[in-house]
Amino acid sequence: MKHLDSFPFQNQRFLIRVDYNVPMDSDLNITDDTRMRATLPTINKIISSGGSVVLMSHRGRPKGQDDSLSMRHLVAHLSDLLSQEVKFIDQCVGDKATKASKSLKSGEVLLVENLRFHTEETAGDIDFAKQLSELGDVYVNDAFGTAHRAHASTAVIAQFFKQNKCFGYVMANEIENIDKVVGGAKKPFTAIMGGAKVSSKITIILRMLEEVDNLIIGGGMTYTFVKAMGGEVGNSLVEEDKLDLALEIIETAKSKGVRLCIPTDSMNADKFDNDANKEYSLVGNVPEGFMGLDIGHQTAQQFNEVIEQSATVLWNGPMGVFEMENFSQGTKAIADALVSATQKGAFTLVGGGDSVAAINKYNLSDKVSYVSTGGGAMLEYLEGKALPGIAAITQD
Ligand code: AMP
Repeated sequence: MKHLDSFPFQNQRFLIRVDYNVPMDSDLNITDDTRMRATLPTINKIISSGGSVVLMSHRGRPKGQDDSLSMRHLVAHLSDLLSQEVKFIDQCVGDKATKASKSLKSGEVLLVENLRFHTEETAGDIDFAKQLSELGDVYVNDAFGTAHRAHASTAVIAQFFKQNKCFGYVMANEIENIDKVVGGAKKPFTAIMGGAKVSSKITIILRMLEEVDNLIIGGGMTYTFVKAMGGEVGNSLVEEDKLDLALEIIETAKSKGVRLCIPTDSMNADKFDNDANKEYSLVGNVPEGFMGLDIGHQTAQQFNEVIEQSATVLWNGPMGVFEMENFSQGTKAIADALVSATQKGAFTLVGGGDSVAAINKYNLSDKVSYVSTGGGAMLEYLEGKALPGIAAITQD
């Protein structure tokens, strides 16, 4: 497998699959450009070394040609970020697009139209992938967020580039960092699983039980565990059909010698609202008419101690409804614990939509070792699945 740095750059067109699925407000202003900024090192390396760049991405889930999801709304900001003109073509395949790519001079950048304006993209259509491949001499996959999809631009296209394919720096970085927590993580290894439901985290929980020394459970899924163990959980979120599964997880943890940390106290609310009446209780004594929306301070303290004694920490999912200020203390406490573990030399990885949002909210993302932008792709990679976007580059 080749590395980006090992290609001759001069007069070569580098076709980069980026993830520019950036959020925008109703006036089409970009509200978070993290994904665009992340790709700048890859683009800058190529253009400063004499190559040219063609960028392709999807945005949203358009039904046909939806102008609000056009890539043209990104051109001005991308030009600013790169401090140079970015050309745009309102197609991603066909003569016009191919011609535009072939007329690029050394150091120039071209952005093509939203790949998902064609249904062939998500269908993984081979002819569409072939047409896309005409846009470049070298294929670079730098879109980790879509690496778990076998789409035309993320995986199928690679076959048309033989050896002329590689990861961009975003992708290489993600893989390098996530690899530090799968197979051979430094011990003690602690995984923190939070979020709403057990059902959406079950595969990753079972996988983590194979790897970790400590498994911390928090968030909404707490109450399914507590109810399964015979506790009173009031109106808390419970998945009635997952009670047996929760008991199974408890048993598996025991048999594997994993310390399973389930909250011991709970901050409760009489409705799902920031201004609800709050009442504190032990986790198995949530009063009738109340629901647990955050871990209690005693739990936060216990989790903190486990996290601070760890050499590797993976955090996925908030400890409570952190979007509501009054129920965000538990999540903030965990974020702080990750920061102090990092300062003590631990490798700390935050990944999965809502924990990334939480760490950003507290401005702590540069105080942990790595924040994965991968979301679903990161989870699948951690679960041990082969991701099509990675396999397409690593296989000959
Ligand atoms: P997930 O996408 O599964 O990681 O879930 C994240 C969501 O879980 C966030 O929007 C949180 O507000 C929500 N959440 C966390 N704790 C609770 C809880 N105790 N009850 C209900 N929802 C929760």
